[in-house]
Formats: sequence, C-alpha cells, structure tokens
Amino acid sequence: MNADERARFRRRLLTWYDRGHRELPWRTEPTPYRVWVSEIMLQQTQVETVLDYFSRFMERFPDVRRLAAAPESAVLKAWEGLGYYRRARQLHRAAQIVVERHGGAVPDSFEEVLALPGIGRYTAGAILSIAFDKPMPIVEGNTIRLYSRLLDWDEPVSTKRSIDRMWEFAESLITRHRPGDLNQALMELGNQVCRKGTPECTHCPVASLCQARLAGTQARRPVKTAKTRIEAVDHVAVIVRRGNRILLRRCGPDEHWHGLWDFPRFVVPSDVNVDSATGQRWVATQLRETTGIASTLRPADIAPIAHAVTRYRITLHPFVAMNPRGRKRNGTPSELEWLPIDLLGQQPMNATGRQIANWLQAPHDEERSGA
Ligand code: SF4
Repeated sequence: MNADERARFRRRLLTWYDRGHRELPWRTEPTPYRVWVSEIMLQQTQVETVLDYFSRFMERFPDVRRLAAAPESAVLKAWEGLGYYRRARQLHRAAQIVVERHGGAVPDSFEEVLALPGIGRYTAGAILSIAFDKPMPIVEGNTIRLYSRLLDWDEPVSTKRSIDRMWEFAESLITRHRPGDLNQALMELGNQVCRKGTPECTHCPVASLCQARLAGTQARRPVKTAKTRIEAVDHVAVIVRRGNRILLRRCGPDEHWHGLWDFPRFVVPSDVNVDSATGQRWVATQLRETTGIASTLRPADIAPIAHAVTRYRITLHPFVAMNPRGRKRNGTPSELEWLPIDLLGQQPMNATGRQIANWLQAPHDEERSGA
C-alpha cells in the first residue's frame, strides 16, 4: 500500500470500528494495569474465556500493589483453569518489579515495559498504544492472519523473514492519530471478519485494499508450516489417602505446572500396560521410589481423563493406593504434603488434579477413594 492507500485504510477501519465493536471491560476502562492483565490473559486464550477470569482477577487484585503483595499461590489460584501458568507467575513477578522500581505505576517507555517478565514486543506495543496512546505497532495471531491477506503474503508466516515483514507492515500502518483504537480495530477485524478459514470479505471495510481478495487467494492465506506431530501418551495419578488427608505434590520449577499442586503422577512407558497386574506393580514401585509410600494399587472409580499439554495428547489413569504405609520422603521429586481433603478447594491445582479432587470431595463411599 502506498501512503494514500494507507490513509484510506486507517479511515475506513476506524469508521468501521466506531460504528460498533465488542464492549470488553479492559476497553471501557483501559488503565495500564487492566490492559496489561487482559493482554497476558489473552495470550493463548479466547476472549470469551478470559471475560470471567478478568472480572474475578480485578476484584481480587484491583491494582498493581495488591497483586505484588499477594502470595504466589493466591495468584495461581485466581488463574486456575486458564492454563499456561507461567504467565501468572511472570505477571506476579512483574507486578513486584513495577512496585519496587517504578513506584507502582506501569512505566510508559517501550524499553521499560519490555524489560518486565512475560512481556514481549507485542504485549509492550498493546499496553503502550491502548493505555498510553503511543504509536506502537502490534503483531499477534489475528493480525498475522489479516496482514498476510492484505499483503497476499505467500510464504509460511512462521519464518523470521515473514514475521519481520508483518512488523514492518504494522509499523507502516500506525500513526499518532488514535494508535490504540487502530490496533484494537486491526485485532477486531482479524477476529470478527477476516477469520480463520473463510473470511467474510463482503463485510470487510478494507476489501478494496486487500491484495489476497484481488487475487482470490484469501482462503490460502496465511500459508502455514507443517503441523507439529501430536503424540499420545499415558500417565497415572495416584490418590494416596490417610484418613482425611491426601498426599499431594507441588510441581517444581522445571515442570509444566510449576507452583500448582497435583497428585503423584507418572509417565507410563509404552511397554507398560497399567490395566495389568504387572503394570500396577510398576505404578506401586514408582510411588514408593518417588514418595516413600508403599502400597498396592487399584484403578479409581473415575474414567481416564483425556487432556492435552503442548504436543502431547495425554490419557490420565487415576489409581487409588490401598492401605498406604511408610513416611513421605521430603524434597524429591518436588514438595510433598499431606493436605486435608476439605482444604483442597483453596489450593491452586492443575485441571486434572482439580477433577480428581472434586471427585474426592463429592459425597460417596469413602472406601472407594482409599480412606
Ligand atoms: Fe480479510 Fe477478506 Fe478483508 Fe481481505 S477482504 S482483509 S481477506 S476479510
């Protein structure tokens, strides 16, 4: 697009945006803190899912100072179910830095915002443009799709060359005139009109400026690289119960659910069948070696739980430890604790741990859950 076309593009896009866009809580009151929290939550997560979490999070931690002063477990608890918990830990750490180094005010310089944990070039641009009205470009999922179509970009969008081109294009679009609104309009257009699969070009305010539309290639843009191969794996989780207490482990720093509680859990090698007596002895050995608790095992009365973590499609088989004996081992493989069953609801847990905990807390025959 030349300068005239870009000016036309901005006018049309902002007019379309002003006629009606989704009312979102971080848009109606775009303070730097609210925009920041919303942007972190929206990484990897749909707007519809974020809405409830955002409201609850703002009630619980209404400003940076309140967030910085909270224990990490409280932040993880508020984040429970949103996934990608590293985001929550980094947000918490960044809030502490904002309080320590910036007097509790989110900084308005690109370098200082970018230096905060969990904030990359996109998030810094979003915070500065939306909350401070600075002319900073943005490139994220929705806009990559939109830009690749506007440019009719025929290379895989994940390469460095492509990403550089997207940033260059985004920079050419942004000016000092309403940069925050323009960025939100770009994301809104990508999300609502220039959708995945078949875009709604007949409702697009910038259709006459779109190269892919002119070439008829919209459905083939963006060009994707080959998908990562999904791998199926089995895990087991063991419910170890003594009276009213359950043995749980807090995941360590190198683990996916760092800081969250989970049941003792093991990856099952492909040559072990956990439905067999041999397989269950293997689970018992893992339990004894990692926790110090000796026990025979039987499958719990919960169906295996299917879930996905990064490129793994996991089937989790819950087991119950029968008459567990011995003292829990401290320090390996991560923190082990006997927690009262009625307090499980207050601890941050990963999604499958929460499913099992809910089953344990539901009224049923205690013998079935290993009591
Ligand atoms: Fe996307 Fe179609 Fe608009 Fe082009 S014309 S930007 S493909 S919705």
